[in-house]
Amino acid sequence: MLSAHALTRDFGERRAVDRVDLTVRPGRITGFVGANGAGKTTTMRMLMGVLGPSSGEVRWHGRPATAEDRRGFGYMPEERGLYPRMKLAEQLAFFARLHGAGRSEARARAGELLEFFDLGDRADDLLDSLSLGNQQRVQIAAALVHRPTALVLDEPFSGLDPHAVDAMLELLQREAGEIPVLFSSHQLDLVERICDDVVVLAGGRVVSAGSVDDLRSQETPSYRVEVVG
Ligand code: ATP
Repeated sequence: MLSAHALTRDFGERRAVDRVDLTVRPGRITGFVGANGAGKTTTMRMLMGVLGPSSGEVRWHGRPATAEDRRGFGYMPEERGLYPRMKLAEQLAFFARLHGAGRSEARARAGELLEFFDLGDRADDLLDSLSLGNQQRVQIAAALVHRPTALVLDEPFSGLDPHAVDAMLELLQREAGEIPVLFSSHQLDLVERICDDVVVLAGGRVVSAGSVDDLRSQETPSYRVEVVG
């Protein structure tokens, strides 16, 4: 279980994230929604430890998350972060090794994920020779390649066509069966379709949180108000 407790981040005078509490449970997919600038990316960076909080804490299974805990997490950052001039298979194996996988395991797993996305015959192509949709597939493969213990995905479906979204969902549901998954999205139909839980952020604060079924039963679900305006 991955959780945030009164997580807060200031940038100068501006409070971007304000005492955020959230819990992402194993085997459940949690959607993280909110308008532009609500603080989703800043919160996710703190969960991953790439940005320190001004105050508050991130916990993994109830105790403060360590760097070693986070090495097991899979992260798809907003700014992406793959290497455009690196071959696909090499790149995925590299990420697996960074997270502690052995050499042959890393290679096998990279091959398996490329096959899943029908990119097996492009294993030796450079990333920047792929379409943007295919680059995005490789990006999610990079988050999954070390069999993560938790997944934090910043807008993983943005810019994808419906076919690519479905392929990614199938992979997520297959790979992330027992682990906590948090992803941010502006696509509310998608959140309603695949998430178990939703956390709604506005102005850096959690304004609503609960199961999709509970929130959807409200006459005007609060996440629709916050995101659509
Ligand atoms: P989006 O959906 O547009 O990605 P978001 O919900 O992810 O938005 P954040 O990117 O977390 O929101 O930004 C929250 C607020 O914090 C914004 O006002 C943003 O300008 C500010 N902010 C984020 N990072 C920094 C930074 N490094 N320095 C100063 N301000 C920042």
